[in-house]
Amino acid sequence: AKKTNRGNIALHNQDIQNAYLNKIALRDKLRNAVKHELLDVYYQPIVDQSTGKIVKFEALVRWFDDEQGMISPGSFIPIAEEFGLIQQIGHFVLKKACQDLNRIHSLGFSDVSISVNRSVNEFKVSNNQFDLISEAIEHANIPFKSLTVEVTESMATNHYTWKLLAELRAKGVKIALDDFCTGYSSLSHLIENQVDYLKIDKSFVDSLLQDKSKQIMISCLIEMAKQLGIKVIAEGVESNAQLDVLNELGCDHIQGYYYSPARPIGACIHLLEEFNGE
Ligand code: C2E
Ligand code: CA
Ligand code: CA
Ligand code: CA
Repeated sequence: AKKTNRGNIALHNQDIQNAYLNKIALRDKLRNAVKHELLDVYYQPIVDQSTGKIVKFEALVRWFDDEQGMISPGSFIPIAEEFGLIQQIGHFVLKKACQDLNRIHSLGFSDVSISVNRSVNEFKVSNNQFDLISEAIEHANIPFKSLTVEVTESMATNHYTWKLLAELRAKGVKIALDDFCTGYSSLSHLIENQVDYLKIDKSFVDSLLQDKSKQIMISCLIEMAKQLGIKVIAEGVESNAQLDVLNELGCDHIQGYYYSPARPIGACIHLLEEFNGE
């Protein structure tokens, strides 16, 4: 038995070592991709339920590797955060999103806005996030109100982050609380009215049809958000049945494969012509 145990430990150590080596390899590959601007930005439409029009696109970073194909942000964003690459990636996405929104506005779709995701590491004092965001907006010549910054609840514990978000908000930038209804949800940031949008997480939307109590919770959230002047966006909506329930509950905006996955800017302009054209 002793022998087997030792064997298991050796195997376990081997696993850890392999995982570590894979991580380092991915980090080096990512570093190279960032350096040579091999990343891309796709956009997913968010549809207003009262007009049926696209009101916003969420910018989502994409990485197509020659060998591995598409590597999902779910696997490389944490690596970027851990190894100090997130600021560069975030800035790249921000600049591209602002420029592409300028193109969308110049085609006459001037009510459409754009959302970018931010990681907690991007809000360090030394990063000058306020200046970076202001400059990107001014450089692309779009209104401040046309940019939304998405932050997660886990970031909401950081005081400096909220100070910075309040400064951006004072300039007109909108704030969305992302991944709402996952884990611990603190209502205080909503009640203190520091955000403009509440994004209900896909995991919650997934269980909506089976779980009546979740519907009651969303209904209360939507009611509260209305009173506070906050718009509710449901994420990851895939089916007609989900859409019906969310509409019944009075959800303002819908994002999900039901309408479209994230697509390159050219395809999004076609979507705008389809959804928003007269
Ligand atoms: P997120 O911010 O919650 O973004 C929504 C994710 O849900 C996206 O995955 C989107 O493609 C996916 N999604 C939307 N609708 C549906 C649906 O109906 N069905 C399914 N199955 N999925 C749907 P994606 O693009 O893989 O991004 C994963 C996460 O990576 C994002 O979650 C976000 O946390 C992070 N991320 C992506 N781009 C950036 C970025 O530029 N900066 C930062 N900091 N994080 C990013
Ligand atoms: Ca998001
Ligand atoms: Ca989300
Ligand atoms: Ca998420």
